[in-house]
Amino acid sequence: MPELNEAIKKDHSFWQYKYGDYSANAALPGGCYETDVLVIGAGYTGLTCAREIGKDDKTNRVMVLDANEIGFGASGRNGGFNMTLFGVEPELTLMRWGKDKTREAQAYMQKAVQYVKDLIESENLDSDYEHTGMLRVAYTDKQARRLKKTYELLSDITKPGSFEYYDGAETQKRLNCPHIKGAIYEPETGVLDPSKHVRSLKILAEREGAEIYENTKVIGISKHQGLCVVQTDGATIKAKKLVIATNAWTQNLKSSPKISSVQSPVWTYQIVTEPLTQEQWASINWDGRMSIEDNRQLVHYMRITKCGRITIGGGSIGIEYNDKKMDLWKDEKIWADLERHLKWMLPTLHDIKIHYKWGGCVSVNVDMTPEIGFIGDNNIIYSTGCIGHGVSLTQLNGRLIADLVLEKETSLTKFWIVNRKAIPMPPGNLLRYLGAKLVAGALKAVDFYEEGKLKNRYVE
Ligand SMILES: Cc1cc2nc3c(=O)[nH]c(=O)nc-3n(C[C@H](O)[C@H](O)[C@H](O)COP(=O)(O)OP(=O)(O)OC[C@H]3O[C@@H](n4cnc5c(N)ncnc54)[C@H](O)[C@@H]3O)c2cc1C
Repeated sequence: MPELNEAIKKDHSFWQYKYGDYSANAALPGGCYETDVLVIGAGYTGLTCAREIGKDDKTNRVMVLDANEIGFGASGRNGGFNMTLFGVEPELTLMRWGKDKTREAQAYMQKAVQYVKDLIESENLDSDYEHTGMLRVAYTDKQARRLKKTYELLSDITKPGSFEYYDGAETQKRLNCPHIKGAIYEPETGVLDPSKHVRSLKILAEREGAEIYENTKVIGISKHQGLCVVQTDGATIKAKKLVIATNAWTQNLKSSPKISSVQSPVWTYQIVTEPLTQEQWASINWDGRMSIEDNRQLVHYMRITKCGRITIGGGSIGIEYNDKKMDLWKDEKIWADLERHLKWMLPTLHDIKIHYKWGGCVSVNVDMTPEIGFIGDNNIIYSTGCIGHGVSLTQLNGRLIADLVLEKETSLTKFWIVNRKAIPMPPGNLLRYLGAKLVAGALKAVDFYEEGKLKNRYVE
């Protein structure tokens, strides 16, 4: 395993650190290239898309470029929840897009979770996958009332048995957390090790013929005589089709004004404990190893790792004034809040030590709804806005984008997020930053209102 401090210095996640030494593929050498498909970004979206194109049609040359090592982005540093939450909340999707589209989105997400599970099982991937379900919990009566409404909506738009509702006492049987007032249990979800998983996706994509170049940053995109022309430091690549899978970095691509305004990065942070002792496990009675999210607006997410630790993330978020900088990897205050929240939830772990801390960025757009869009004609395809709920979504999106690249009309390509109406980010750093701060402030205010006396919960 690499040295811990070295890994922290490189802004690696716990999963990347724990994975051990990794040998990146060579960067793309300088020169001129021609390809059928060029994918920029080697996370779940880009690698899945490359694999699926190769699987369907081996005659295409598919090149994938990543500015860093594959999985350096959110795909190698997330919570690993293979989950069905679309956008922020089903209620918001309902309000903005109506019931039919909310139902369709939920069905897509359920399909996405199954797609990931099937891939892991059929390819026997070393992703430490556990299909143990998820609990969405409320800490106060106000939150529980809202959670019950979410449950009713989800039950109405999905097949029976997709969700169950537990009261506080029922939840307590599954987790010794004294503060839970109610929970939604969703059995058909799971957790994975994101770094192991993304590296398995690389192997699969290469097996289908994709050429993957790491540490190769794209610095410009243009069009010339109907072809997409992509520029790196030393190379020029002409591609018939271009897939932009750069997620939270998309605003940095020098291309059209559209691409720089489709989304903006928001930072989320995570910590992981040292391994728990048998006594500690017994004291919290986490029965069933299900993952846990709360239904706060600034959500916390918490799960068990295969190596016997607990990781928790979320709570406050990071917003950069200049979103081109992409440099908010660390936040000591948010990490300390996460530790306090973990110990508040599971008081018997009051003296557990934190082993590792990291951060990562997610792609957020104005209406907080995932989007797959085109730049100019249909030869440049991008995917953004998967927020913190992209583990399953981005992988099925990768399959969907493969269909678009191969110009196939499928049930996936009819999904309404494809070429949907989108609202551009406000122009300029100041407006964008103030807008994001305003939204974050409003979310915080709802939590403050719903949590009442709990706002002092961390005070000893
Ligand atoms: C801390 C954290 C926790 C999360 N937890 C969960 C969770 O539990 N469940 C869930 O569903 N979702 C979660 N998410 C969200 C989820 O991880 C993402 O939605 C998903 O991984 C995005 O995948 P992607 O392939 O689209 O993008 P990414 O994995 O971000 O990949 C984008 C890639 O593009 C590359 N790139 C950027 N610019 C360039 C350039 N100019 N040239 C070449 N390459 C470039 C980057 O290096 C990067 O590798 C979390 C995210 C974070 C950060």
